[in-house]
Amino acid sequence: MVDTKFDEYGNKIINEAGANSFPCPGCGGAEISRSRQARAQSKEYTCNCGFIGP
Ligand SMILES: [Zn+2]
Repeated sequence: MVDTKFDEYGNKIINEAGANSFPCPGCGGAEISRSRQARAQSKEYTCNCGFIGP
């Protein structure tokens, strides 16, 4: 049985080796993907709309 989870916005969370992807909180458009390494380093991401976040 696949344990499918959804975040607070109803987006499906796919458990893939610690990777994480989600729509930009700023514009809700572009999907942001973060690698496990990037998360471990708390690396910032920058969207095309200019949104920068943790
Ligand atoms: Zn954006």
